[in-house]
Amino acid sequence: MSAKQRIKLALLWLMRSVGLFALARWKTRHGFAVLGWHGVSLLDEHTVLDAYFVSPEVLRRRLTFLSRHFRIVPLAELIDQQARGQIEPRQVALTFDDAMYNFGGAAVPVLREFDAAATVYVISSTLERPSRADMLLLQYVVVASPLGQTPDNTPGVETPLPMTSLAERHDVLRKLRAVAAEMAERGEPIGEFVEQMAELFGVDLAEQLERRVWDYLTADEVCELAAAGYDMQLHSHRHQYATENLEDLAEDTRICRQAIEAVTQREAVHYCYPAGRWNRRAREILAEVGMRSGVTCGPGQNDVATNPLSLKRHVTGNNFTQLEFEYAVSGVQALIHWFTRPAYRHEPPEISGAF
Ligand SMILES: [Zn+2]
Repeated sequence: MSAKQRIKLALLWLMRSVGLFALARWKTRHGFAVLGWHGVSLLDEHTVLDAYFVSPEVLRRRLTFLSRHFRIVPLAELIDQQARGQIEPRQVALTFDDAMYNFGGAAVPVLREFDAAATVYVISSTLERPSRADMLLLQYVVVASPLGQTPDNTPGVETPLPMTSLAERHDVLRKLRAVAAEMAERGEPIGEFVEQMAELFGVDLAEQLERRVWDYLTADEVCELAAAGYDMQLHSHRHQYATENLEDLAEDTRICRQAIEAVTQREAVHYCYPAGRWNRRAREILAEVGMRSGVTCGPGQNDVATNPLSLKRHVTGNNFTQLEFEYAVSGVQALIHWFTRPAYRHEPPEISGAF
């Protein structure tokens, strides 16, 4: 942990100790927070990709805090209250992006302990056949590799590249992703390529593949989870950024909605912008095709004046300490932003461009 991070945490600890978090929760009680996570670890994923994954233990700590100070309600219920202009005090909604197998395998057992509702954002092309998050797996392979430099015969790499720092590993990842993207463009499946890279980079995937760590939920599983009360909603058809595909956004959203509703037999009108990339034009298009809400990755509290199609959301993983999580959700940050960033009171900043 850096000295700067230590000072920040000490400051937050002090703020919490003197009651500022509790005061902020009271002050922002008529707003609501939306919380977002991606994967919940089945094995050790959070130790390698700590922004994407949260461990079940950490998720349990988050929910313990939330259930102590807030009522956890379905997102759709919050949107209904907001539309009526009457938001009940102290509420939060939980969301999970990408609908991977680990939602059912690792998140649901924790959610059940708290009897907590959750919305899951499904990439609808993954419902067509059993699918795996190969690009994410490739990232895991490069970050987890025990090697200090790229091995000979690494595709797309002519002379060996160092892999000592995380930044160097991300450079290597970019090269491998470019190779994989070219393969995908030619219509070649990249799963086998990713498994070859795991072998080349010395990462044993046997247990992970056996435990379905990188799989998406199948259509049958999405149907079962919907029947169990989890709200299955839209995360686009192929995870293309809405802001980069404005001309296709309406059609893509229709396809996504139809695919999810066909599987769940329930209405799907809540959208999650892939990678949080959103802008006002995308928001207008979503409204035109009947979406009732859209979540971003811009942190903050929402209230009656927030446009429901660009909701703020706290997206966290194991990379957040419990203190930072409580600071964000209690609304201290939102209160500071209320004064320092007036332009973003009712919507988060637009985010376009490649990730
Ligand atoms: Zn996503």
